[in-house]
Amino acid sequence: MHPAARILSRPLRFAVARPLPSSPSVPLARRFASSCCNTSSPAKPASSPAQARTKFTMAGSDNQSVSQYLEQSHERLFEYNRQWAADKAAKDPEYFVRLNAGQAPEYLWIGCSDSRIPVEQLLGLEPGEAFVHRNIANLVVNTDLSVMSVINYAVRHLGVKHIIVCGHYGCGGVKAAMTPKDLGLLNPWLRNIRDVYRLHEAELDAIADQDARYNRLVELSVVEQCRNVIKTAAIQQSFKKNQYPIVHGWVFDFKDGLVKDLKVDFKAMLEGIQKIYNLSDE
Ligand SMILES: [Zn+2]
Repeated sequence: MHPAARILSRPLRFAVARPLPSSPSVPLARRFASSCCNTSSPAKPASSPAQARTKFTMAGSDNQSVSQYLEQSHERLFEYNRQWAADKAAKDPEYFVRLNAGQAPEYLWIGCSDSRIPVEQLLGLEPGEAFVHRNIANLVVNTDLSVMSVINYAVRHLGVKHIIVCGHYGCGGVKAAMTPKDLGLLNPWLRNIRDVYRLHEAELDAIADQDARYNRLVELSVVEQCRNVIKTAAIQQSFKKNQYPIVHGWVFDFKDGLVKDLKVDFKAMLEGIQKIYNLSDE
């Protein structure tokens, strides 16, 4: 495995990552028990993905079993989706009429791609309430057309009221950035975090505990990404005209499932950057 992939796939302190084994034998068979879904069965109230996952099995590690497992682990998503759609329609016949009519989300979420942060679930948001962008280590890079397009569209066309940059403790991307070695394609991406480290080198180097130092860098990077959001013309012009959106910096903690508000002072940060980055005049 490439060094970068090895570091990113290894959580700092939380051994919960469960990648598909290269030789899918015992662990896979143990985790996915029983037989495949019946695709023609009538829709029932949606069970959780975890419940759906327990319906699958793999009898052995031969090619046919692997193929069957892959087919089942793909199909179970459709099974859950059919149940979810039927459940929503049964409870509210107008649900999909409203969903189809368009979106007016209140929030733009910029988070890490880490699979353990289900934004809608942990905040109780319904479809249509959050516009979402995710990448490795929740970075806002001004040459990244993807994140810049998302911010521009969310602010200028959707009129989001809040932009939340959310990092998480134990972020593999941040850990990789603090690892002084060549990580290939990730080098230019992680450079943005290394630059945050350089900006706060004295504070970070004074923290003796390695995990605490990583986690402080997670927080400092979130604050810096908030600043990067505020540097955009879309935010500055919209705030001048509408008094929104407000930019927030949060960190999610796997240990207790809680998000921590870093209490970024949006107005002070906006005023602070505008000496150099003022784009508020169209
Ligand atoms: Zn992460």
